[in-house]
Amino acid sequence: MIKINIKTRSKSEVIDITEMIQSAISKFNKSEGIVLVYVPHTTAGITINENYDPSVREDIMDFLNKLVPKDGKYKHLEGNADAHIKSSLIGNSVVIILENGKLKLGRWQGILFFEFDGPREREVWIKVI
Ligand code: ZN
Repeated sequence: MIKINIKTRSKSEVIDITEMIQSAISKFNKSEGIVLVYVPHTTAGITINENYDPSVREDIMDFLNKLVPKDGKYKHLEGNADAHIKSSLIGNSVVIILENGKLKLGRWQGILFFEFDGPREREVWIKVI
């Protein structure tokens, strides 16, 4: 397994980590397989969506912030219940086909890391099988 570190800079942030993942998997010396990208946090998430037009990821974050407001009525006392809920909605792993040493993504797709309770030091775990 390989870990990559991500330092987020604000409470809500979306980071395109496609290139980071592509360069990390070159360390596995595998050209074919399945890539698992896993986020080991309860207030961050990961998904695959368009990375060509950055307004798409902004629209997703804006929608989540409207759907799950920070100051909603929650039981969790840590003050970040909204971030836990958004993390569950987005999910914490993606699986991608590895072909000829490259991530097999659709033309407009990228791997997007979602921070919901930053700024923090985050990790992403990668395994190729
Ligand atoms: Zn919490």
